Amino acid sequence: SALLEVKGLSKVYPNGYEALNDISFSVRGGEFICIIGRSGAGKSTLLRCINGLIPISGGSIRIDGTDISALNENEKLLLRRRIGFIFQEFNLIERVSVLHNVLTGRLGYINDFCAAIGYFNRSHREKALWCLQRVNMVQRARYRADRLSGGEKQRVAIARALAQEPLILLADEPVANLDIELTWGIMEDLRAVAREENVPILVNIHDLETAKQCADRIIGIARGRIVYDGAPTGLTSGI
Ligand code: ADP
Ligand code: ADP
Repeated sequence: SALLEVKGLSKVYPNGYEALNDISFSVRGGEFICIIGRSGAGKSTLLRCINGLIPISGGSIRIDGTDISALNENEKLLLRRRIGFIFQEFNLIERVSVLHNVLTGRLGYINDFCAAIGYFNRSHREKALWCLQRVNMVQRARYRADRLSGGEKQRVAIARALAQEPLILLADEPVANLDIELTWGIMEDLRAVAREENVPILVNIHDLETAKQCADRIIGIARGRIVYDGAPTGLTSGI
């Protein structure tokens, strides 16, 4: 069954601008999807709607069978913890260790009390180290985050998201600040995580060639509408 199901989604911003119009698609476990489109097409808006960061104007979004509009604030918060989000700017806590970053990124089973007082037991640490191992960053666990390169920071951000035991993972332009070689590495890591953890991953990316090389499936958006949804090989022109 679908882990994410978007039906007839529309989003009108308070100023009246319609950023998304009748968006429908569904996503299964393990799918690695690139969302492509020009700047301003509506890609970030789509991810922010799925993450529950902004209210939607019409249609529905179901995550693991749950309609997110039907949830109260507390339930929304709990669900959002199971949605991993990876940012263009990494958003690490710069002055603490890599391990600390992963530990405080809402580890799936850490309760608020433990996190608030900074108490992490052995199993929390083992889980965090395992997530770092997944992206080949375990050797950097004790480094301060601000000593890492951009590519390394993004791999730590992936480990942090993984530690949430996410139902789905969303990445908004995760490679926009990285050069081409680092871009390949990050996209490969994300693809491997999708396959091996059976987590669907949606990646916003403006570079069509990279998307074509890496994705299992491409969703193309133009002016707030889906204009392509299918295999990269079927995409013969730009979006
Ligand atoms: P993309 O991620 O594809 O570059 P966005 O989702 O960021 O596109 O933006 C889609 C459109 O919605 C753009 O025209 C943008 O200016 C507009 N937009 C984004 N955020 C807001 C907002 N808070 N209020 C009004 N318009 C917005
Ligand atoms: P990005 O560089 O990720 O595409 P944007 O420049 O589109 O981001 O948006 C940056 C911030 O400004 C976002 O919070 C977005 O919601 C807001 N924003 C973007 N476009 C508009 C707009 N036309 N009116 C109001 N807010 C906007």
